[in-house]
Amino acid sequence: MATNVDDAAEGGLPIALTRVKKSFGKLDVLSNFNLEVPAGQFLAVVGRSGGGKSTLMRLIAGLDAPNSGAVTIAGEKVDRLHPEVRLLFQEARLVPWQRVIENVGIARGSNWQETARAVLADVGLQEREEDWPTVLSGGQRQRVALARALVSRPQILLLDEPFGALDALTRIDMHRLLETIWADRGFTTVLITHDVAEAVALADRVVVLHQGSIALDIDIDLDRPRRELADSRAVGLQ
Ligand code: ADP
Ligand code: MG
Repeated sequence: MATNVDDAAEGGLPIALTRVKKSFGKLDVLSNFNLEVPAGQFLAVVGRSGGGKSTLMRLIAGLDAPNSGAVTIAGEKVDRLHPEVRLLFQEARLVPWQRVIENVGIARGSNWQETARAVLADVGLQEREEDWPTVLSGGQRQRVALARALVSRPQILLLDEPFGALDALTRIDMHRLLETIWADRGFTTVLITHDVAEAVALADRVVVLHQGSIALDIDIDLDRPRRELADSRAVGLQ
């Protein structure tokens, strides 16, 4: 079954970091760092704590700037929070005094409730739109945060250890959900995780960040079942 928002990102946007250097004082976090993420790829970045993963994500999102080198999205230099980029963190960061639907419908354009409801259905929370965030479980809160990220149909989704605080079974549910939504919508995805199994299970490609550069860059089997699932959905077999 396709998700409700059909006019979604088509193929995502490509990301490139070219000869990027990022330091904090004397600490070189990234040096001569190069990475190209093609449009629509699901990339996972793994590495030790403190290795620069979140810094990399902030640079891609335009939340921070490199000391030198270039970060581009679709060939354009990133110099502010890019409108086509949405982020998901370990904490859902919901607004506690807003109901679930209000947390999702942040843009408040016309039909915002309808749009928010459709995305809440995509993440399996159609029954919870009137709830306050505090009554939800951790996994449900992350679903709301995912819905909020998806509601504007971003071309790029950046996830910084989004499932790190969840129990193992909830994490598996979230993996399935993310896989399904990504297969339907095709945005470019960068998933930061310290869980190598998670990276391999979900991503097309896994890079290992070590001491400021990419120590390993591996393509994962492209003929995996979820791609077939996405294809069969596209031709209406499911
Ligand atoms: P990771 O996400 O892989 O755990 P980070 O990107 O958060 O790593 O951090 C990489 C290094 O940069 C760490 O040593 C961290 O302390 C340092 N760092 C990150 N942000 C800042 C900052 N704003 N000011 C100073 N040091 C920072
Ligand atoms: Mg981090």
